Amino acid sequence: MSSIAENLAAIRQRIGKTTLIAVSKFQPVEAVHDAVDAGQRLFGENRVQEAQRKFSALRAEHPDIELHLIGALQTNKAAEAVSLFDVIQTLDRPALAEALAKAIRKTGKTPRFYIEVNIGREPQKAGIEPEHTGAFLKLCHETYGLSVSGLMCIPPEGLDPQPYFKSLRDLGKRLELPHLSMGMSSDFEKAIACGATEVRLGTAIFGNRATPGS
Ligand SMILES: *Cc1c(COP(=O)(O)O)cnc(C)c1O
Repeated sequence: MSSIAENLAAIRQRIGKTTLIAVSKFQPVEAVHDAVDAGQRLFGENRVQEAQRKFSALRAEHPDIELHLIGALQTNKAAEAVSLFDVIQTLDRPALAEALAKAIRKTGKTPRFYIEVNIGREPQKAGIEPEHTGAFLKLCHETYGLSVSGLMCIPPEGLDPQPYFKSLRDLGKRLELPHLSMGMSSDFEKAIACGATEVRLGTAIFGNRATPGS
């Protein structure tokens, strides 16, 4: 067994029924192959071009692979993103919602979306402020016809993430969104205890990245 297969087996034991997104950004395609061979089908990538490069051939071979975009998306890449990803987790501003709606009309592809919430209200971070998430959801549904089914967050670094995970859970409950994407390699067990339905793990599966990821 490759160490990636061993890591995956150990993580699956720890997370039970929670959905596992294997974050393969900055990892070579060989690492993705190892994960696929070990039965992993759900992957997260941060960049449209990198995901295209790594997954086009693989997906032809394994049509059941599901790809999530978990990095910031520029409006000029909306059509490519909509064509490639099954879920876009970083819907974070009205201009992007508009660009995605246009891209869906143009391509005929209809991915699902999660709203990225700036759960710690950090000025340098992307995401909708918690108190504006309800209005933004309404805009996405009613004006742009986007299929939003979840929330995603990255809590502030260096603080106990649990209050932030709980506040995302409460927001998801209030807005009746079933999917909660929260928890990374360092804090996924806390996220699960707070109600995460999916965790996004990179280094815990693949080891350190070649380039520091954002
Ligand atoms: C890189 C990244 C992850 C995975 O981080 P690890 O600490 O390697 O598990 C999860 N979510 C997002 C949004 C990321 O950018």
